[in-house]
Amino acid sequence: MSLKDKDKKIYDSIVAEGKRQQNSLEMIASENYASPEVIEALGTHLTDKYAEGYPGKRYYGGCEHVDVVEETAIKRAREIFGCEHVNVQPHSGTQANIASYLSLLDIGDKIMGMDLSCGGHLSHGHPLNFSGRYFKIVPYGVRRDNGYLDYDEIRNIALREKPKMIVCGASAYPRKIDFKKFSEIADEVGAYLMADIAHIAGLVAKGEHPDPVSCCDIVTTTTHKTLRGPRGGMIMCGKKNSKEIDRMVFPGTQGGPLMHSIAAKAVCFKEVLSHKFSKYIKGVVLNAAKLADELKRGGMKLVTDGTDTHLVLIDMRPLKITGKEGESLLQDAGIVANKNTIPYDPQKPFVTSGLRLGTPVLTTRGMGPEEMKEVAGWICDILKKRDPGTIKNVRKEVSRMCKNFPVR
Ligand SMILES: *Cc1c(COP(=O)(O)O)cnc(C)c1O
Repeated sequence: MSLKDKDKKIYDSIVAEGKRQQNSLEMIASENYASPEVIEALGTHLTDKYAEGYPGKRYYGGCEHVDVVEETAIKRAREIFGCEHVNVQPHSGTQANIASYLSLLDIGDKIMGMDLSCGGHLSHGHPLNFSGRYFKIVPYGVRRDNGYLDYDEIRNIALREKPKMIVCGASAYPRKIDFKKFSEIADEVGAYLMADIAHIAGLVAKGEHPDPVSCCDIVTTTTHKTLRGPRGGMIMCGKKNSKEIDRMVFPGTQGGPLMHSIAAKAVCFKEVLSHKFSKYIKGVVLNAAKLADELKRGGMKLVTDGTDTHLVLIDMRPLKITGKEGESLLQDAGIVANKNTIPYDPQKPFVTSGLRLGTPVLTTRGMGPEEMKEVAGWICDILKKRDPGTIKNVRKEVSRMCKNFPVR
């Protein structure tokens, strides 16, 4: 790397981040470690190319090669998800949502989205986000008694509020989402249905989660979470809405696409189509189930009492500590997770009563149920004992495990 000589400060930080990734157990449910090939595609001269427009219809010359790249990404994405139309240009998941809302809605229209504290995403109607500022938001939550989505209640709210769009999908919901039920409700009230599968896209791709594509008007996702690709977004829809979606991504809400990133998306999609990736996703789900079981055995209270996805959410209230404190204790031992609100959280979002843990990265590193059992044991020890000795011992164990499962 000549960066080493020319920009030592940034070079050193990149190297240090690589070491941090190698030496810690990354359990942030929205993260993953992309393959060397995905990273290779990202670090290319495709970043130099302006390609406003779409393959075959660009506003710039010299697009013959990036056209192949984008067409390939589109073809592979359609094959993975079985959708009629795909737009691979959104720079991020939030960008994908912005374009999707604006393609079917007018500013001020009513959107029904999952409450952030119950597991929804900022871009589903948080007051400080564009979604909450430019649309009327009606939130729905989960059941107070068991943390599950309550489809009867969602139907009641929809019948009462008559939203123009219902958004389903979440960032911290550990259970399967019944897209069919959502679509029945949307049909009944005459609302559009959008599914945001940013977190679960890898599971959907491999049949480990119900499919939203067949019953939603629009499906948005990120490509960097369980899909394990480059940081970015994507929109899927039927032929009917395809023109509006494309127009609202460009020129509606973005300029030139990030062609290096689209190339990396294509590389990721080829990986997703492989048998190896099916095995990977099965591993992610099995590992999360094992992690949940072992955490419960160690006395942890879990929201919905478990998981059928890639993540678990610990309710920290019985331990008498906050999510923030829990995150910091684990961090000291080399286990990286994030504080997260639990449904109807009494604490502020910067403090929270929950801790979210995911298995995508650990599974990418090749860890299995045995390791999940060990990790769950360490987490329980730290959160219950909270003493420097325990943290120090676990830090040693974490280092040993990290050495046994090299990242690159
Ligand atoms: C992560 C996430 C997003 C946003 O992704 P960014 O790329 O960070 O903008 C959108 N929706 C949901 C449900 C998410 O979990």
